[in-house]
Formats: sequence, structure tokens, C-alpha cells
Amino acid sequence: LGERLYLGMDFGTSGARFALIDKRGTIHAEGKREYPHFMSEEKVDWARSWKATLFSLLEDIPSHLRKLVASISIDGTSATTLIVDSNTGEPLWRPLLYNESCPDALPTVKSIAPPNHTVCSGSSTLCKLVSWWENDDSNKKSALLLHQADWLLWLLHGKLGVSDYNNALKVGYDPELESYPPWLLSQPYSQLLPSVRAPGTSIGHLKEDIRSDFGTTDSIAAFLAARATQPGKAVTSLGSTLAIKLLSTTRIEDARFGVYSHRLDDKWLVGGASNTGGAVLRQIFTDEQLVKLSEQINPMEASLLDYYPLQTIGERFPVADPNMAPRLDPRPESEVEFLHGILESIARIEAKAYSLLKDLGATQVDEVFTAGGGAKNEKWTKIRERVLGLPVSRATQTEAAYGAALLALRGTDEK
Ligand code: ADP
Repeated sequence: LGERLYLGMDFGTSGARFALIDKRGTIHAEGKREYPHFMSEEKVDWARSWKATLFSLLEDIPSHLRKLVASISIDGTSATTLIVDSNTGEPLWRPLLYNESCPDALPTVKSIAPPNHTVCSGSSTLCKLVSWWENDDSNKKSALLLHQADWLLWLLHGKLGVSDYNNALKVGYDPELESYPPWLLSQPYSQLLPSVRAPGTSIGHLKEDIRSDFGTTDSIAAFLAARATQPGKAVTSLGSTLAIKLLSTTRIEDARFGVYSHRLDDKWLVGGASNTGGAVLRQIFTDEQLVKLSEQINPMEASLLDYYPLQTIGERFPVADPNMAPRLDPRPESEVEFLHGILESIARIEAKAYSLLKDLGATQVDEVFTAGGGAKNEKWTKIRERVLGLPVSRATQTEAAYGAALLALRGTDEK
């Protein structure tokens, strides 16, 4: 009937999804679209492609449900950066994508930021800003920095220059002080920085309408989807790589390991990512083989095979070693034993990752939810329970779009 619905939109790497939920979290509609890849001067015009996808997804929502949308939350890929004209919102430069690195800016950034700060990585938003500032000659007076989600939300609410803690973290915003730090504010380009609000704070009302919008990053939205709300609850993503996120009462930052904390209300979402994960499995086995061979594994028995499965040389978390070589030998004759050894070795890396977070001062993990392609492997879940010494289960919801919808709901205080 006239029930209010909450819309979450997740702008990922290759396409975008939406989830429309009610206040109990029940999904009423879902959908996805690949980015259309509009070209301009032989390059993908990402801003135009995202914009078109945003409006296509809104049109994909059945119109009788669209009328009931009370609020919208959008998450984008972290550190995807746009420099726009502060009057018109039009991009002054092509968007700098989440995984693009601007090593040219690193010396400058390292000279102003505290050691091991999150911004001290070539792909940080601050490195992107500094690189643009030092290399582009366009009018800097009317320039403004926005993150992907900020810009997409602007298309809906029309207020230019607003961001949230999660997106602003990699440009140097301090969510504990709730301000940009003095070392950043004293830089000439600090005039480009957007104002920052807590994720899930209403920014404004939809242009021709009365609904609010909110922003965050993709990984935060995926964590929110799992509904792990107590300190000590964690989500391990077993996709192509292994990433962990832990809800902690303390904040941890260490750029050596790529570990940083997002603020979630009065708590911290601490995360790190290893280069190990499912991509290595896929190099060796098909998904069908993974299912068949896994069936024959006895998860209660420890595998003594000690591997370090990596696709290429180099690891950053839980061990920072750019020269670490992949280790996958000795290879036993039995494929079942080989797979068991790999799954067990990845579980040991996961255990080490959680123990590193604890050593760095995070809340001790007490339960792990699992997302990603590896989550459906029940034998692996059992192996991980034994190696981690913790309850492990599959997260019921893992779509970032669902998490974004929960954020839209939370922002309206109707949970
Ligand atoms: P991505 O990070 O690419 O989004 P997904 O979450 O889609 O990854 O997960 C894909 C990964 O899951 C693949 O690398 C694959 O090796 C792994 N995978 C698929 N099926 C299984 C399985 N039964 N057991 C363990 N891993 C699996």
C-alpha cells in the first residue's frame, strides 16, 4: 500500500545495482545495469556512463514502487575522485578511478601527512588531488573535489560540495575530530575539499521531490548489508582476494598494511586486504572442480601443507612484503589434498590477519560472517572455524546495494 521504501544504490567497478527495501529489511525490488561505456576522445567517459546508469536504474524501479521511495543512499568505489566546476558541477578533468595511482604526488603528500597515514598511498584521493593540482592548468579557483557517490547524489539533490566520513577518509579527513586536520587545511588546495557529514545523514531533498539522499563507500555498504552491528563482529570477503572488516571500539590506521578505519556512528570499521584469495583457486581449478573436490575434504583434519597462495609476487596484509613469492609446493598427488592445503593455508592467513588487527589495538573478533564466492563452500567454512577458533557463517545479505538501502532507512530513523 502506501508503505515507505528505502533505496540503496551501489556503484561498483563494472556496473551498478539497486535494492529497494521496507523498514523490516525485506527486499521489494532489485536490479542491475552494466555501465554503457560512452566514449570521448577514445577514452571511456566515466562520468557520463555513471550518470546514464543512475537514471536507467531509477527507471528500472517499477513506477508503483518508485512513488514510495522515502530516501536514497548511494555508495561508490572508495577513492574514485572527480574534480568539478564548483558552479556547474561539470567535471573539469576525467574522473580518477579507485585503482589509479598517482605516484608523482607521493613525495608531496608524504612530506605533509603524518607517517603511515592512509593518504600515503599512490591511489589515495589526496594523491589524486595533489597530482591534478600540480599538473592541470584549468581554472583552480572554481574547482571542487567530489567522490563518485557525492557527485551522483548531487545529480539527485543538487547541493554541490557535500561528502561523508567514509568517502572523505582517503583525502585525509579525520572522522574522530570531525574535521580536516590542520596539516591539510594549510595547503592551498584545501579550498577544493567538500564539507563532510556522517554517513546516513540526510544531505538534502530530491530535486523535484521531498526525499533525502545519503552517501558512503562500497565496502562500508557491503559491511552494513551483513548487519554485523556489535564490536567484535567481522566480515571476511572471500572473492578474488581476501579482505576483512572488523567492528571495533578503537580506531586503527597503518598504511604499511593498508589498514584503516572507517567511522560508523561511535564505532570503527577496521579493515585490511590480503593479495591471497579465490583468484589463485581459479587459476588451478574450475568452480565445478572446487565443489566436487571440496566434498571429499575432511575439514576436521588439519592439512599440514604450508602454502602462501598468491597470484603474483608481493603481499601487503597481514605481512607487508612486496617481494613475497607465491608458495604452492610441494604439490601432493591427490587433488583433494592439494585443495585442502590451499584452503587451510588461506584460513591461516585469515587468522593471522585478525590477530594482526588485535595486535594493532582493535577489538578482539568473536564472530565472522563471510561474503564473496568462497562463502558458499561449507567445507572451507568448517576449516576456517577450526583454524580461527571462532563461529563462522555465511552472511545472509552481502550486496552493497542492500547495505546502502539500510543506510537510507537508518537515516530516516524508522528502523
Ligand atoms: P570477486 O572478488 O571477483 O567479485 P566473487 O565474490 O565473485 O569474486 O568470488 C569469486 C571467487 O570465488 C573465485 O575466485 C573462485 O575461485 C571462488 N570460488 C567459487 N566457488 C568456490 C568454491 N566452491 N569454493 C571456494 N571458492 C570458490
